[in-house]
Amino acid sequence: MLKKSKSALIIGGGIAGIQSALDLANMGIKVDLVEKKPCIGGRMAQLDKTFPTNDCSICILAPKLSECARHPLITLHAYSDVQEVDGEAGNFTVKILKHARYVKEDACINCGVCAEKCPMRVDDEFDRYLKKRKAIYMYYLQGVPAIMTIDKEHCLWFTKNACRICEKNCERQAIDFDQQDEIITLSNVGAILVATGYDVLEDINPLGSYGYKKFRNVVTGLEFERLICASGPQGGHLRRLSDGRDPKRIAFLQCVGSRNVRSHPYCSSICCMYSTKEAMIAHEHDNEIESFVFYIDLRAGGKHFQKFLKRGAEEYNIKYIKSKVNEIQVDEEENPILTYENLDTDEIKQLKVDLVVLSTCIIPSQGTKEIAEVLNIRLNQHSFIETDPYFPILTSREGIFACGCSHAPMDIPTSVAEGSAAAGKIAEIINGGG
Ligand SMILES: Cc1cc2nc3c(=O)[nH]c(=O)nc-3n(C[C@H](O)[C@H](O)[C@H](O)COP(=O)(O)OP(=O)(O)OC[C@H]3O[C@@H](n4cnc5c(N)ncnc54)[C@H](O)[C@@H]3O)c2cc1C
Repeated sequence: MLKKSKSALIIGGGIAGIQSALDLANMGIKVDLVEKKPCIGGRMAQLDKTFPTNDCSICILAPKLSECARHPLITLHAYSDVQEVDGEAGNFTVKILKHARYVKEDACINCGVCAEKCPMRVDDEFDRYLKKRKAIYMYYLQGVPAIMTIDKEHCLWFTKNACRICEKNCERQAIDFDQQDEIITLSNVGAILVATGYDVLEDINPLGSYGYKKFRNVVTGLEFERLICASGPQGGHLRRLSDGRDPKRIAFLQCVGSRNVRSHPYCSSICCMYSTKEAMIAHEHDNEIESFVFYIDLRAGGKHFQKFLKRGAEEYNIKYIKSKVNEIQVDEEENPILTYENLDTDEIKQLKVDLVVLSTCIIPSQGTKEIAEVLNIRLNQHSFIETDPYFPILTSREGIFACGCSHAPMDIPTSVAEGSAAAGKIAEIINGGG
């Protein structure tokens, strides 16, 4: 009987952690799901559409978000961090730090009036700093839990002892400037899953050689997702950042930072597919758009993935150029000019485009490195979680599992499959003989 009362702890509320939480809860196991950001959803919430079907990303994700929030066996701890873990497989004790939002969770109905009235404009991390949000904000439109958060670093009350306009305008009296951080202790936790995902490389070095952050018409793949998304900074109408003009020729550069012996020698594994997807979506928005994918070799290792690239070439007029791009310069109208070596013909060529999209390296998230230390589990040479080569959800410590991009770059279908696989192993510990 005691065994059945054990719970599972999932750290990271991206698609991998969410899938695992739902599977475990549907098996009758109590789950605590801890997410660092104010809402669950992870990177999938930032994507416009998703390969391999090019369905709307949030349309697939949103039902899972609300199922997580409503499930009687799942407790969401958003805007929280795992601080300490003691014990062993089958019986861990966990301390969670829940950050104050300065908004009462049971009173806020996410009507948005507070944000409308707030005078402080702040760069919006969710929209990759391409838009402003307010100091009181909803992390993203469809976010779960649907509760506003006050960003203490920019709020005039906390920085200058002034304002409190949000409080005056909140009919529900949900603002609470005296709210404190809370420590929550969980005991009898049977097993732990790390699903802390990835970041994208945005460092000026090595991206600077392609003019990133210097030329406004050079963006990353993740920025492109936000630029083309209906809920993004341009309301879904793709425009150049320099002059607002509709781009007609777009270059997608592969392996930017990845497969580079000096920095990140591994393959980011998803870029050939997502660049093709982004080129397809751009073409669907405006069928005059012509796209060029500059690649070293095309890696489309998944079910029907090769067919997807073929469709890109045949139906969306994408030109795949086996090449090495040496440098990007811009002309007086800020049009990027690429100088590249065509690896099929050995020629040095130039191409002028309107917009460049960099497929930048997938790197371990900061949260992955932090949690590895708290859990005392090993990282691999690239600072992803080290897992068993033949059972890739097993970490270096018994009772602690990893799934999704916390241990390697991978796509959504694989992250979901690993989330489910981890749920199976955790259920074995909690319900079985572990
Ligand atoms: C530009 C781009 C386009 C893409 N397009 C596609 C596509 O079309 N199709 C596809 O299949 N894949 C695509 N992907 C890949 C996809 O984003 C990933 O496969 C997927 O997001 C992995 O999910 P995850 O849950 O492992 O990680 P994430 O989505 O990164 O989620 C991890 C979560 O953990 C949280 N977290 C981190 N650290 C901690 C911590 N210490 N404590 C608590 N919480 C923490 C994070 O805040 C986050 O919410 C794309 C990727 C990029 C960069």
